[in-house]
Amino acid sequence: MNRRSFLSSALAFGGAALVPVPLLALAGDKGSKESGVGRLVRTDEEWRRRLTPEQYEVTRRAGTEAPYSSPLTDEHAGGKFLCVCCDLPLFSSKAKYNSRTGWPSFWTPLSKKHVREQEDRSLPEVRTEVLCARCDAHLGHVFDDGPPPTGLRYCLNGVALKFVPGKA
Ligand SMILES: [Zn+2]
Repeated sequence: MNRRSFLSSALAFGGAALVPVPLLALAGDKGSKESGVGRLVRTDEEWRRRLTPEQYEVTRRAGTEAPYSSPLTDEHAGGKFLCVCCDLPLFSSKAKYNSRTGWPSFWTPLSKKHVREQEDRSLPEVRTEVLCARCDAHLGHVFDDGPPPTGLRYCLNGVALKFVPGKA
């Protein structure tokens, strides 16, 4: 299947499709060739329709929620934090900690294969952006001032996450 016929069949499914990894090369996407989580592709219009304005602004426009605005910042129950756009499990309550920044913070993702990192030069300070490996949702940034054992601080927008209590 060439790229054009893939895109038209994706559109036939309402703009959404889980793309098997081999097709990624055809689509010119180098980012998650080895992610093994598949790809969820939707049009911008589709995302706008499916998400709340706040979820859309943060996940599809790389916005930042106001600190202390998300109830997930103080969520201390056991469970998993999923991508609000595609339900991919991203972070566990086991790696959550109180960073006193006002944003949900973790010292590691559930799997390195479930998140993608890329350089963000939108501010004078160069930061590392964290995105969902399946649907490219902007989640937040990762900094190197976190606690042991990784020393990392995944500083996330609660609005980009969906908390599912249960097995962490
Ligand atoms: Zn996602």
